[in-house]
Amino acid sequence: VTSSTIPIAAKGRVLIIGATGFIGKFVAEASLRTAHPTYLLLRPPPLVPSKEAIVKTFQEKGAIVIHGVINNKDFVEKILKEYEIDIVISAIGAKSLLDQLVLVEAMKSVKTIKRFLASEFGHDVDRADPVEPGLTMYKEKRLVRRMVEQSGVPYTNICCNSIASWPYYDNCHPSQLPPPLDQLQIYGHGNVKAFFVDGIDIGKFTMKVIDDVRTVNKNVHFRPSSNCYSINELASLWEMKIGRTIPRVTVTEDDLLAVAAENCIPRSIVASFTHDIFIKGCQVNFKIDGVDDVEISSLYPDEGFRSLEDCYEEFARMIDDKIHKGEHKITGTKPVVEAVPITASCG
Ligand code: NDP
Repeated sequence: VTSSTIPIAAKGRVLIIGATGFIGKFVAEASLRTAHPTYLLLRPPPLVPSKEAIVKTFQEKGAIVIHGVINNKDFVEKILKEYEIDIVISAIGAKSLLDQLVLVEAMKSVKTIKRFLASEFGHDVDRADPVEPGLTMYKEKRLVRRMVEQSGVPYTNICCNSIASWPYYDNCHPSQLPPPLDQLQIYGHGNVKAFFVDGIDIGKFTMKVIDDVRTVNKNVHFRPSSNCYSINELASLWEMKIGRTIPRVTVTEDDLLAVAAENCIPRSIVASFTHDIFIKGCQVNFKIDGVDDVEISSLYPDEGFRSLEDCYEEFARMIDDKIHKGEHKITGTKPVVEAVPITASCG
């Protein structure tokens, strides 16, 4: 595609970085469902076959693929100009967060970007205060926030809280696994609440805010009241869906801190966030009343969120299907869905 063949956009042209990733996929799918021309910046080939297949599906739905990396200022400036990009959404992975600093410099230089969404998609990192090694990741996200604020590029921070799933303390992408069948690990006393948002809704609402004037330079918090659960309540919901009780074991605050202290990446990062959420209550221990904050349901009161009940129902159906196919025993501990390969590195 050359600039001369770029169609005139009725809606802003969106560039998505990290579309082959866990969160980026939801955002890319949502963008392709809108009238926004959607450009995907992918690292140069080769891609692993599963990611190649995803990209092909996106292309079939109209995505325009650009190959390159964001930590090359000249290249990024060139593509932002050439493709007349209006909105940049980064869903870059945790290991590459600081690569966004070069991207911000490039957006500042071209002066045409109407909105930037940095790779946030979790907690309000200026308020949440996890122990290490999660803290280091938040310090990087905070640094990106400060750079963006100074750049003058209009921005929105998506604080979508937890992904709808069983919140395993040792898996970065827990929604790819159904809740456990052998034992339910309860963090602390189990009564601290958190918000759970389905990935499809993360994508859908992200696309709603990108050209909404009410979200310029704001933190947008996802707090669907129907999806606010403690881990005790999640355990009961899951038991109800599968029609039996499961032994509950307590994972104490000290247990979580010990896993965090192992500094085994990414598991220790997830443990530090689990501690922050289910012991310290980082998603619910502040009011959204600052001038910089807005709650998504107040912006779009008529747009519903997929309920956690519905998500757990789907997990239960998946397990049923596997049992009927003889692929899974209900008493087993093996996850019915293959876990994402995570390379652990321990410091
Ligand atoms: P993933 O690791 O799954 O994906 C990262 C993506 O970034 C991949 O597409 C990768 O490309 C791409 N990428 C990495 N470096 C570069 C680069 N230099 N140039 C271009 N592309 C690059 O990330 P996640 O989806 O796990 O994380 C995204 C964000 O979402 C993070 O901020 C994370 O903290 C947050 N998150 C929130 C969760 C929640 O429950 N709320 C859960 C998980 C993440 P490639 O395919 O080539 O590797």
